[in-house]
Amino acid sequence: MQSIIRMSLTSYIVSGLPGTPPCDGEVTGSSTPLPTAQPDRPEDYLLPDDLVPVHYDIELRPDIYGSDADDFAFTGYSVMHFWCRTATDTVVMHINYLSIDNSSIVVRSSSGSIIPVTQTRHRPEFYFYDIVLGESLIVGENYTISTNFSGPLSQNMAGMYWSSYPEEGQTKYMIATQFEAPDARRAFPCMDEPALKATFNVTLHHQSHMTALTNMPEHEQIPGENNWVATVFEKTSVVMPTYLLAFAVADYSFVNSTSTGGLTEKFSRYWARHEYIDEGYADYVSQGYSDNVFDYFETYFNHSYLLPKQDQIAIPDFAAGAMENWGLITYREERLLWNPQMSTLYEKQRMAGTVAHELLHQWLGNVVTCAWWSDIWLQEGMARVHQHLALAEAEPTWISDELFQAQVLYRALSYDQMGSAHPIHNPTIHTYRDPDSVFTVISYDKAGSFIRMIAETVLGLDSYERSMQVYVDRMQYGSAVYGDLFKAWDDQALADGITLNKNLSQACLTWIMQSGYPVLNFARTSASQFLITQELFLIEPERDLVEWYDTPYDYTWDIPIKYKSSVETEVKTEWFYRENNDKTINLDQDLGDGDWLLANVGHSGLFRVNYDLENWNALIGQLKTDHLVNIITIIMSISTYLLYWRLSIEIPLGIAEYLRDEREFLPWYALLQGWPHINRLFDSHSNYAALRSFIRNITSDAYAELGWDEDVADELPTIYLRTLILNTACENGHSDCQAMAQTLFRDWRADPSALHSIIRPDVRESVYCSAIEAGSAEDWEFLFEQYQESFSYFGAEPQRRADGLICTTQAWLINRMLGLAANGDESIRSSDRTRFLTGISLSSYGHSLAWHYLNEHHTTMAASHVRSMTEALVEKFSTTYDLEKLDSFLESFDEAAEDWKDSLRTTVNANIVWRMGNEEPLFNYLDVY
Ligand SMILES: [Zn+2]
Repeated sequence: MQSIIRMSLTSYIVSGLPGTPPCDGEVTGSSTPLPTAQPDRPEDYLLPDDLVPVHYDIELRPDIYGSDADDFAFTGYSVMHFWCRTATDTVVMHINYLSIDNSSIVVRSSSGSIIPVTQTRHRPEFYFYDIVLGESLIVGENYTISTNFSGPLSQNMAGMYWSSYPEEGQTKYMIATQFEAPDARRAFPCMDEPALKATFNVTLHHQSHMTALTNMPEHEQIPGENNWVATVFEKTSVVMPTYLLAFAVADYSFVNSTSTGGLTEKFSRYWARHEYIDEGYADYVSQGYSDNVFDYFETYFNHSYLLPKQDQIAIPDFAAGAMENWGLITYREERLLWNPQMSTLYEKQRMAGTVAHELLHQWLGNVVTCAWWSDIWLQEGMARVHQHLALAEAEPTWISDELFQAQVLYRALSYDQMGSAHPIHNPTIHTYRDPDSVFTVISYDKAGSFIRMIAETVLGLDSYERSMQVYVDRMQYGSAVYGDLFKAWDDQALADGITLNKNLSQACLTWIMQSGYPVLNFARTSASQFLITQELFLIEPERDLVEWYDTPYDYTWDIPIKYKSSVETEVKTEWFYRENNDKTINLDQDLGDGDWLLANVGHSGLFRVNYDLENWNALIGQLKTDHLVNIITIIMSISTYLLYWRLSIEIPLGIAEYLRDEREFLPWYALLQGWPHINRLFDSHSNYAALRSFIRNITSDAYAELGWDEDVADELPTIYLRTLILNTACENGHSDCQAMAQTLFRDWRADPSALHSIIRPDVRESVYCSAIEAGSAEDWEFLFEQYQESFSYFGAEPQRRADGLICTTQAWLINRMLGLAANGDESIRSSDRTRFLTGISLSSYGHSLAWHYLNEHHTTMAASHVRSMTEALVEKFSTTYDLEKLDSFLESFDEAAEDWKDSLRTTVNANIVWRMGNEEPLFNYLDVY
């Protein structure tokens, strides 16, 4: 499954966080409740392992043809074939929201004799449906159980559900599914656990103008009455878990392609609404991109794709980004399609990344499946790493590895520094009923960063590739636990002569079995020697660590360190083993004045680095003279310290000054990661003008060179840099930037249908925000109308317009938006309400209005809105007075979980500490700047 990523350019560039936790499950229209204290979960909700499913026959008849969507429902019939491993007289299956017709249940042995059913029992707290038999089943014998059942259909984006979209003035309905993690049980009774793989025969009943799709190709169509037909599909050619099954029924169009560059010839179709296919939105993905990536993975794993086809379908209502169902990949529309008139290049990159992510899962996830959700990282962390490797092949100008560092690794480090995230191997999932709680930044981004560290720093990419071929080969069509992956790595290290002082597996355990990550402190002890120590990195180090999860390793790690010095050409790797208190590294030559050591070269390690002041200054001196060192490694480290009190703020400010002459995207990106944080804390400071002036000053040369116009030869880094510079310059009051934005906005107001020719998607965010900030109430009303007009538009354009509206400085408009969003007024899309509320809470002009609004109305607001507004508001709290305000506010939430309250206080405390340490030096620096 692919995570949701926030659309806004400010959220991806300025805050640098393409996506905010939690990843998957961040459902459109946010229904997340206020977190409540977690009751102890029953530990025995796993299915008993005495019966083993081998095959299902499933027949479903979803009816979405009536006039009232509230009445949509489905009926079904299924036969589960299974064998008996341990004698039992009870068959336990999963169901959820299903009504089973008890009189229809028939259990037969392989000889055809019927086993009497004496009792049925629904245990909804476990999602279990027990069928108690009149006699015990015999070990080794095969049986079938058949049932008739029915269930509701809604737009809930879980299980089998309906989605809708407008077409030629009418609402069109379609059927889609989302079964991962625990929702196949909403569509048919089954043993719904990832290790229980089986084959499937599917028949879907539908009206004849619709097309039905599932994992396998159509076998035949059987006409029924009143325009109904039954589409019968071929039996699945491989075993798969229930969560990878998928169905779709829609009146859609498709384009197709055949890829021939891998081990096999593969046939693909790309499905979407008629209009989107006709307009060419599927052209990018279908005309080469998907085929190239598909072939690339098949060759990479040296393992043929075994299904006869691959369908990829864009669904208007979809909770995750996409889902890797084997042979029928489902996407939210903007993750499969691309419209150059309405979508930015970033949206294209993200879409391409999602397609690569899902294609990767056809091997890691589908061929090899995690045995239980606690090891979901074996597929999601892998998908993160490999989607970037595939993009580097398919779109070589897109600086994929650098973007991995800047986006994925950075997000992992930021998320895991609070001291409350789960370890990569998530032990708590054994006690939760709801496996969806594992789709987190940790399972995707931290796990991906860990895997990349092993691949790049320890094994090297070639050995890593061979190890993954071995892993897929050994584990194919089965289920894996983390030890299976580590064994493949260990064996490959041995085969390729990569020597370590201990098994790689042992070292890996220190990374997956405990939360957090280390910071390495480097201190120069002589001209050729550094002493390194390690400690757990926490954003608020003074705070007593609350050990949410046990650690068997006392927060110490086995760390592979790649480093280089200015007097040596070679990049070296050494291990810092956790058993030692410290680690000494000796250089071959002495360092002189201005010489430096750079650790974590290539930013491949899942840790942070700090140096003594002498080494920091030497690195900055090097940066200012030329780029012979890995800039991003340094700047990412420094950017971290913008959020962290240990490093004097003069150092990042000194680096910021050097940016004036920098024209590469990543250094800018990396440094500006920390800037929104500073802005949030000081945007009402009496000397805020000095901060804005500083930023204007360092961006003005780049602004003058890059301008607003795009050259046909511009590649991704240049286009991204232009967007970033325009955003930063306009936001900080660059007069020419703001004037240009207002001109473009006025031109658009004069001719609303000519948006595309007047304002390119990549600069719209700057234009909307600047024009609204400086503009009149009429400008705001115009954009508000345009926002409502865009509800049916493809992609992120409505969100861009929403973000523009939030930029107003007029209190009455801000209060109006708060009321409309919090009260569920239809002038704001349900999926944008949280966006308005959090955007206003974080904004300079809206913050205190939002705080007042929340205090006044929280008792009548949706819990999810209270939660997200509170979380956004505390980002700007940075004084003890703010903390008192927060505490008295939280007193009214008896029900809310203590760890949630605690994490809010942690954020504010960290801000207070940071502010106390940095406010004075910051403004002193700016005074003399
Ligand atoms: Zn995934």
